[in-house]
Amino acid sequence: MRCIDAHAHLTHGHRGFHEFADSGVFDEIWLMDLDGMDLSGEVMATSDEVLAAAKAHPGVVFAFGHLDLGAGPDEIDRLRDRGFIGLKPYKPATNWNDERYYPLYARAEELDMPILFHTGMAVRVGNYAERKNGSCGYGPSGMRPSYLAGIGEAFPKLRIIGGHLGYPWFEETVHNLYYCRNIVHDVSGYRHYELLHELLRILDRTANEGSDRMLYEKLFFATDQFYGTETAMRTARKLKDFWMLNFELIGSIYHRWGRPEAAEKFFYGNAHAFRLGDCPRG
Ligand SMILES: [Zn+2]
Repeated sequence: MRCIDAHAHLTHGHRGFHEFADSGVFDEIWLMDLDGMDLSGEVMATSDEVLAAAKAHPGVVFAFGHLDLGAGPDEIDRLRDRGFIGLKPYKPATNWNDERYYPLYARAEELDMPILFHTGMAVRVGNYAERKNGSCGYGPSGMRPSYLAGIGEAFPKLRIIGGHLGYPWFEETVHNLYYCRNIVHDVSGYRHYELLHELLRILDRTANEGSDRMLYEKLFFATDQFYGTETAMRTARKLKDFWMLNFELIGSIYHRWGRPEAAEKFFYGNAHAFRLGDCPRG
């Protein structure tokens, strides 16, 4: 089955990624640029390294540029002109829905650049504060999933991805999925059993209520791996197997969400349509 890794990162001086991108494990890999940030001791690739990886694998690797929320809207034009297909801000100094950021979101909407907003639990960033001159914050609380709902309402044509499932505010993620047309979420990041259980229960409930909109249009697979080490690439393969086995051996037997057409959308179709702009809005 075709599969897209819709949220991953690249490490500085990465090894083995080119072979991995060529291997066919994933039909597409979307790299989220964090421009050299130090995440819990792992240094991320520079923006140029991320772009070079995308340019080396056209049609397979796509790059979202790191958006410094302290920059002006012109920065979005610059990121687009360099070849980024979307935007990835991280750790706002205040909250995602602070209206000071609205000119940025307005420009992203005008240029039809999707934004991936991290939601929920976040790892420690070592060198962020000095690098970004105070335009960043700390901890997860500025990145609650429900902050995206207002952005989605104010900018109804903006394509919004809530990265991860927003732990420990999972209910807010479910709210976004139900009520905000232009917000989708990727499932990367958390593998807490209770969260998976709750997610699968909700998928089943919507399917059984005759409303498939969460799974059918608004959730997709991603790994959030830091590509560039053997461990990350091995883990990504295992995550793909883990989710596919859940769909095939549990979902398809005991639940409606395991139907082949549902799996195809979760692993490929939803992310692919989102990238092409063929997704719910407004
Ligand atoms: Zn990430």
